[in-house]
Amino acid sequence: MIDVAFIYHDAYAERGFSRVQRSWARYALGRRLLQDVGLLPPASISSPTASASRYPLVELCPGPATDGEILRVHSPGLLERIRLGDERGEGFLDYGDTPAWHGVLRRARLAVGGTTLAARLVAGGQFRRAFNPAGGLHHARHDRVGGFCPFNDVVVAIRCLQSEFGMGRVAVVDLDGHHGDGTEALLYDEPVLTISMHRYGDRFYPRTGAPDDVGRGAGFGFNLNVPLERKTDDETYLRLFDRWVVPALERYLPSIVFVVVGADSHRADPLVHLGLSLRAFRALALRLARLTEELCDGRMVAVAGGGYSPAHVARCWAVFLGTISEAWPSGDKHLAALLDSVDESD
Ligand SMILES: [Zn+2]
Repeated sequence: MIDVAFIYHDAYAERGFSRVQRSWARYALGRRLLQDVGLLPPASISSPTASASRYPLVELCPGPATDGEILRVHSPGLLERIRLGDERGEGFLDYGDTPAWHGVLRRARLAVGGTTLAARLVAGGQFRRAFNPAGGLHHARHDRVGGFCPFNDVVVAIRCLQSEFGMGRVAVVDLDGHHGDGTEALLYDEPVLTISMHRYGDRFYPRTGAPDDVGRGAGFGFNLNVPLERKTDDETYLRLFDRWVVPALERYLPSIVFVVVGADSHRADPLVHLGLSLRAFRALALRLARLTEELCDGRMVAVAGGGYSPAHVARCWAVFLGTISEAWPSGDKHLAALLDSVDESD
C-alpha cells in the first residue's frame, strides 16, 4: 500500500466555481465515500496517528496561494479582476461562465494552494502520490478566467517545482472530458509534456484541442491532443490511451506526472457525454500507477478537474484513489461493489 496525501479544506465543500450548483456537493460527498470505503480515516480519527496509519489516504489542509505564486502564471490584471469580482459579489469573472461572489478569491487561492501543497509533498519526497479534489482548473489562461476556472493551479504548481526543486521534466496527463486549453496555452512554447484527451468537434467547449496543435518553438512536439467523439466507450478510450499517451510518457521520461482525473468523462456526466464507465477509471489508474512507477519513482500529483454528477464523481475518485494507493487489488470488495454500481443519474 502507498500512502497518498489527500488535500482537503472545509472551504472546498462550501461552494465550487461552476454554475452547476448541485456539483458543489461533490467535495463533501467524495470525502464521505472515501471514509465509508475505508480509504480515509473516519472523521472521528484525526490523522496522522497510529490508528490512522492503516488507511492509505492521509488528509492534509492547504493554505492559500500567495500573490507571488499566482503572478508567476497570471497577469496582475487578472488577479485584480478577480479581486474586484469578489468585492462586487455578483456578475461574472469572465464572459458569463464563471460567477463572481463574495469569497471567490479566497476559495480560488485555496484551490491553487491545494495543488502546490500536493506538488511540494511529492517533489520533496514526503509522499509518492497526492490528490487535490479542488484542483484541475485547466481553462484558466494568463489573462483570462474561463470555464469555471479562476487560476490554473497545475501550472502554478509546475512553476513552483521548476523554481524550488529544479524539476524540468514535468508531464501533464489531462483526462477531463474538456480540452485543457488554458494549460496548453500557458505551456505551449516550453518542453513540458502536455497531453489532453477530450471530447472534440460539434462546437463542444472550449472548441480547441485539435490533434495538429503540437506545440511551438522549444515546445514543438511536446503538446499532444487526443480528440474524442461523443459517447466514446471504454475500449476505444483505452486503445487511444495505449496508442498515444503511453509511448509519449515513455519517450519523455518525466520526473513527475500531473494527472487531471476528470470525472466528467464518465458516461453519467450531464455536460460532457463521453461514454466511460468506472472500469475505465480503474484501468487508467492502473496504467498511470505502473507508468509512474517505471518512469519516475511513482511520483504522481492527481487533481480532480470537472465532474457535474456528484455521486458519480465521488465513485470515480474512490476508484482512482483506491487503485493508485494500491489498497485495492483486483477483486477487493469495495472496488467490486463500486464497479458494479449502476449509472443512474443522481
Ligand atoms: Zn471538464
